[in-house]
Amino acid sequence: MKKLVKFGGSSLASAEQFQKVKEIIDMDPKRKLVIPSAPGKRYAKDTKVTDMLYICYGIAEQGGNFTIELEQIKNRYLEIIEGLKLDLSLEQEFEIIEKNFREKAGNNYAASRGEYLNGIIMAHYLGYEFIDAAEVIFFNENGSFDAEKTNQILTKRLESTDTAVIPGFYGSYPDKRVKTFSRGGSDITGSIVARAVMAEVYENWTDVSGFLIADPRIISNPEGIDTITYRELRELSYMGATVLHEEAIFPVRQVGIPINIRNTNIPSDEGTWIVESTCQKSKYVITGIAGKKGFCAINIEKDMMNSEIGFGKKVLSVFEENGISFEHMPSGIDTMSVFVHQDEFIHKEQKVVSGLHREAKPDSIDIESDLALIAVVGRGMKSMRGTAGRIFSALAHASVNVKMIDQGSSELNIIIGVSNEDFETAIKAIYDIFVLSQL
Ligand code: ASP
Repeated sequence: MKKLVKFGGSSLASAEQFQKVKEIIDMDPKRKLVIPSAPGKRYAKDTKVTDMLYICYGIAEQGGNFTIELEQIKNRYLEIIEGLKLDLSLEQEFEIIEKNFREKAGNNYAASRGEYLNGIIMAHYLGYEFIDAAEVIFFNENGSFDAEKTNQILTKRLESTDTAVIPGFYGSYPDKRVKTFSRGGSDITGSIVARAVMAEVYENWTDVSGFLIADPRIISNPEGIDTITYRELRELSYMGATVLHEEAIFPVRQVGIPINIRNTNIPSDEGTWIVESTCQKSKYVITGIAGKKGFCAINIEKDMMNSEIGFGKKVLSVFEENGISFEHMPSGIDTMSVFVHQDEFIHKEQKVVSGLHREAKPDSIDIESDLALIAVVGRGMKSMRGTAGRIFSALAHASVNVKMIDQGSSELNIIIGVSNEDFETAIKAIYDIFVLSQL
């Protein structure tokens, strides 16, 4: 069985990083399929090649002179090629790119060249076959990912291939134009290819040793998470997105392939395993805490709401009409609150309010802003009594006023709404009670 290895931009930002990557691949003969990102930042203030490409193409699109910008991009790759002492020239590739930029090949094409060129270098360096993602990853006309066609063609293509490098982040439309996923989308490519070959594992190599129980900007030195289920990770999506693209779990999840997040700079760290299910107990009752500020609640009140059939449908239709997705919807007997992202809602608020009056005829509507949502997640909560009690007594001790409570039906998560200004204090209090006091 093969292992699929995906390396993020910071893992491939320089020749030195490429060397680390090769060492990692050489350590395990099963690492036969490689998905590279474009070169990322070499130091904090550096610019990712993908961003350089967007800027360069922006100039090209305006009909401006982009020679300097393209030269800077070329230099990033030359630095890697020379550092690795490879006998490889990208001259011709850059001539084609320049021509296509002049002919306005599009933003997606431009951005995809970061992965494409890195893929060529990586394949050459490893002695693996190079497969252009445009030939094996497909999108529908409307821009959605065509999973079926991709899986069919990719599986077939890889049947006869022992080792290959497939650049991440892009594929093609039916008319062959290049289309990218959203930013960070190489993670998705990794998952798609892992599924197509039914890989033993999808190793996602990045610059951190996996997920942490809580945000290190709030908790100093939080503990890492060894194992997390796909469902737990979804519930913690406020946290996950910075390490792994949100959509990356779906293709492998369908077929039960685990994802292992690993650190290219500390390969001996086991990282985090994302699995379908496990009998391994998590070290603490909770697996993780994550949250986000910037929500608002639309509180709707109507006498006898509980007996009005279709009330919820009418309310939600207004949000749908306005193109707003909702995050949570706790309700009481005569009240219902809809939590939405404030920045998405703010420009449309009066349209939503009048729409709600028109559709649902409530007695009153009240909008509460600057709220934060915190998800406390753990598969261990199901079998433990008193978890909610511990959370709320910890919050009371920290003088945090809880504005909303929502427990998912899976008993996997408890969502708490607090005001933005209590956000950090609340997370600290929850971390203390479940992790620090258990040490
Ligand atoms: N290079 C792309 C980006 O910066 C995609 C990726 O790295 O996954 O978003």
